[in-house]
Amino acid sequence: MNSADSESLARKMLAAGYREDTLDRADVAILNTCVVRQASEDRVYSKLHELKAWKTPERTIAVTGCIVAKEGDHLRQRFPMLDAVVPIGEYDDFLAGLAARYDYSEGEGLPLTGRTGVSHYLRVIQGCDHNCTFCIVPRVRGRERHVPIADVLAECGAAVEAGAREVVLLGQNVDDYHDPGGRGGLAALVREVEQIPGLKRLRFMTSHPQDLEAELLEAMAASDVMCRELQLPVQSGDDGILKRMARGYQTRHYRAIVERARALMPDMGLVTDVIVGFPGESEAAFLNTRRLMEEIEFDVVHLAMYSPRPGTFAATRMDDDVPGEEKLRRLNDLLALQRDIAARKTARWVGCDVEVLIEGNDELGRPYGRIRQGKRTAVLRGAGIAPGDVVNVRVVQATAGQLTGLPAA
Ligand code: SF4
Repeated sequence: MNSADSESLARKMLAAGYREDTLDRADVAILNTCVVRQASEDRVYSKLHELKAWKTPERTIAVTGCIVAKEGDHLRQRFPMLDAVVPIGEYDDFLAGLAARYDYSEGEGLPLTGRTGVSHYLRVIQGCDHNCTFCIVPRVRGRERHVPIADVLAECGAAVEAGAREVVLLGQNVDDYHDPGGRGGLAALVREVEQIPGLKRLRFMTSHPQDLEAELLEAMAASDVMCRELQLPVQSGDDGILKRMARGYQTRHYRAIVERARALMPDMGLVTDVIVGFPGESEAAFLNTRRLMEEIEFDVVHLAMYSPRPGTFAATRMDDDVPGEEKLRRLNDLLALQRDIAARKTARWVGCDVEVLIEGNDELGRPYGRIRQGKRTAVLRGAGIAPGDVVNVRVVQATAGQLTGLPAA
């Protein structure tokens, strides 16, 4: 999502005549920040320390992204060299200030088409109306704001015309999308976007189990353009912990969604997030999560150890009572479990014919891309295959992270 924000700002600047360049030749450096974990926040500070040597009176340093809502005032005090601290999406005043400072009237900008990749990421909801007790996002990104369907269609249409073949619709909780003008929710949006001529693939993320509707699953199953992959964070397999996290659903509900989705799309890829060691997570609660993972057999699980984020409900009101070494044991246990599950699941693809949207060449020079179910796939003997092509491939090898195949005859 941060990449989508960076891209949106970059496009505005390129359209205004700015040019991307290396840091040593640039006049302006903009840090787009993420603070979802402490490590990402720490990286912002270390990057700002590095930029101290780069800064001169003629050069501008700006910070935008999530850190602005959380630490904006503190940042200005700690780094007086900062020229601008820009709230997410509020770029117009900042750009006007730059235009007054630097003369780009010659308009040396790169053509926008030159930047368009195979996939175009577009945020359709800013912010989040949920209040999960461990999460800093509602505080730093605010309440939900929804992009009108007409604007989404215009941007996606322009991206496809400029060369994109896939559109990825983004939202912290994308299922909650609704057009501010009353044209419908996410199912209506995806049905309209998939009609764009030339669009080969349509994805959306991230879903929330409380808000995902059957209508959306039906739209996915009926579509030739929409991908068969759900990013559906469960966070815990224990109802008591889900309640403490304020996730708003129980495991029974989560299981029912997965069952429904797999009934409609048996080959669907399923990605989830799990936190271990949340306050109050007993051994029995942890084992419930383990059982859920064994039973559902996710394709990918993003596993994290709980660490309190200052400013969240859990950090201020709950005791971080699972010792660090125990969190690590639980994490490693689930990592090993998921490695086995993923290896078993991907092995099932060997011998199958899949459709790969090519994104580029990997470090070995082989074309690679993704299948509709989300698995990364490298193509052997892929001479002549270019980014943006959709290639039929027979899978000959599978590891937990990747499929490898040959162009199908
Ligand atoms: S739904 Fe996601 S972004 Fe929103 S509060 Fe919960 S974890 Fe954070």
